[in-house]
Amino acid sequence: MNDIFENKSLTNLKSIGEFGLIDRLTDNISLRHERSLCGVGDDAAIIDAGENVQVISTDMLVEGIHFDMHYAPLKHVGYKAIAVNLSDIAAMNARPEQVLVSIAVSSRYSVEALEELYDGMKLCCERYGVDIVGGDTSASMSGLVISVTVIGYAPKNKVVKRSTAQEHDLVCVSGDLGGAYMGLLILEREKQVFLENPSVQPELEGCDYILERQLKPEPRLDIIGMLAEKNILPTSMIDISDGLSSDMLHICHQSHKGCRLYEDKIPIDNQTYDMAMDFAITPSVAALNGGEDYELLFTIAQPDYDKIKNDIAVSVIGYITAENEGCSLITKDDKLITLQAQGWNAYEK
Ligand SMILES: [Mg+2]
Repeated sequence: MNDIFENKSLTNLKSIGEFGLIDRLTDNISLRHERSLCGVGDDAAIIDAGENVQVISTDMLVEGIHFDMHYAPLKHVGYKAIAVNLSDIAAMNARPEQVLVSIAVSSRYSVEALEELYDGMKLCCERYGVDIVGGDTSASMSGLVISVTVIGYAPKNKVVKRSTAQEHDLVCVSGDLGGAYMGLLILEREKQVFLENPSVQPELEGCDYILERQLKPEPRLDIIGMLAEKNILPTSMIDISDGLSSDMLHICHQSHKGCRLYEDKIPIDNQTYDMAMDFAITPSVAALNGGEDYELLFTIAQPDYDKIKNDIAVSVIGYITAENEGCSLITKDDKLITLQAQGWNAYEK
């Protein structure tokens, strides 16, 4: 046991990052059951359930890492904890039905505060027709930790993975990107102002949309419904939690393909655009690297283009290429830039 802590040649978490850590920890896991159709490596695991598959995913929110009690109301934190899990189920083209909710909480929280948290969770579950069916509670030495596990279902031939994009497929994204990141920057800025002078009122006017994108994201289950209605089965899909760049690379690497994205096709809301300019950030960089938008990034076969081309909720932003062509962005001034995985590194803080 002591060796683990004393051996100087041990690897620092910072040096491998979150994705590196997941790779290390899950490297030699083998699946023993026939029903375990797909394990680690997608938005959710896929379990055989007869005519349907069950998709299961889990996500943890940690105070000080994923949310900050200075500006995130507990009701919003609860809502977001459920919403981000439902988003992973949507990313499998499945419907969420049940969640299990576990919390570890320090004694500085009141019962009423935790009721607020659960009110937010219940609101999100109600909105998306999901049942809370279990969980666990524990004391915590510092802060609040929320862990949610979600279970969803899809017909066996409708479940969509990250690893099945095909050459020439079109790359699509729902909604708009970069807003959640700009919302976070606003909240961080106002937090600093508040810490320096608690009597100053926060300047949040005109930021309602991007603040909501950060504090209260919505899982795009409406897009799953729309795709089914239009009889479109995406060839691959992921939800955007780490940023367009990182999540596009997940699809490409797991599908063994490359891609070309067009900067001028990336959907960006006006409020996101204006705020990015205020912060001297290129708006498309906020979209590529910001993360937490919880939009759906998916690929479709070209014959499906006509079914989707007039849908304002979806933008076609590029196409899939052969693997050896690499993954790149064509900028507004026609330069080719290699996409970088710039999702946040949880261990850099
Ligand atoms: Mg995901």
